[in-house]
Amino acid sequence: MKIIDTHCDALLKLQMAKRGASYGLETLDYNNSEKLDTNYQRLQQGKIKVQFYAIFIEPGVPSDEKWQHALEQIDLFYTEVLTQPNMKHIRKWEDFDTLKDDEIGALLTLEGADAFGNDLTKLRHLYRLGVMSIGLTWNNANLCADGAGEPRGGGLTSLGKEVVKMNNDQRVLTDVSHLPVKGLWDVMKYADYPFASHSNARELCDHVRNLYDDQVKAMFDKGGFIHIVFNPPFLTKDGVDATITDCLNHIEHLCSLGGVKKIGFGSDFDGISTFVKDLEDSSKYQNLVNALLKHYSEDEVRGFCHENFLNNRPGVK
Ligand SMILES: [Zn+2]
Repeated sequence: MKIIDTHCDALLKLQMAKRGASYGLETLDYNNSEKLDTNYQRLQQGKIKVQFYAIFIEPGVPSDEKWQHALEQIDLFYTEVLTQPNMKHIRKWEDFDTLKDDEIGALLTLEGADAFGNDLTKLRHLYRLGVMSIGLTWNNANLCADGAGEPRGGGLTSLGKEVVKMNNDQRVLTDVSHLPVKGLWDVMKYADYPFASHSNARELCDHVRNLYDDQVKAMFDKGGFIHIVFNPPFLTKDGVDATITDCLNHIEHLCSLGGVKKIGFGSDFDGISTFVKDLEDSSKYQNLVNALLKHYSEDEVRGFCHENFLNNRPGVK
């Protein structure tokens, strides 16, 4: 079963390795490096049809260096990811429909507006380079909003609202996955295309990165969609020993809130350091599919794997 995966952090790993190369450390080969959960061969083995690649700048990077980091990650997307055989750049939502059977799609997203600060010219450049989903924050605060880990828990700033409106105009998704409660409700008010690229149900795992039931329902009501994440701390109460059954529990809970046609997967591979048993990298994805097929119809599983996203993407009604 073909998979659309809406979050991974391979670009950060590639960038860190490339920067380390000047100190004699090894660079990573996107084709087959064991250190990359999503390397190209693993994507093929796991039947990934489209992989989203996040541009993510670590919070410790000084503000005046963040744009440079973003450009380096975008460069690696073009030079390392898109150069793999039959890798196709997805630059607009219609491109999903033109992928041939042997092709894998690759799509850029942004995790945290820190990358462009308050410079909307830079944001427009990101759109031009192909960024199709924007999460306003990671866990900390920036000029657009507070992140989920920020004690203040504020909503969107005027700049944040302006960015959401620009996303709407560009048919770009606004990703709520790292927002605190207030920020999510603000996005629900202003965004035409709300989306949670990698979050789970807070009812089952009380973590700030997960969504309360009323938030989940509001997302579904507004045409938004939620992709579950395979990070054990967001899956189980104690954050350890997560299994595929835990993933199924989150899926079942989101389905009970009306999500059967509105959910999918955003693994967070290459951004997580502990793993769900039997789902340790992209090549293992069909283990999850096989477990789902024991509990859901083939149509429903096809929905979770790719069709729900295709039916919910901007511009498709
Ligand atoms: Zn994240």
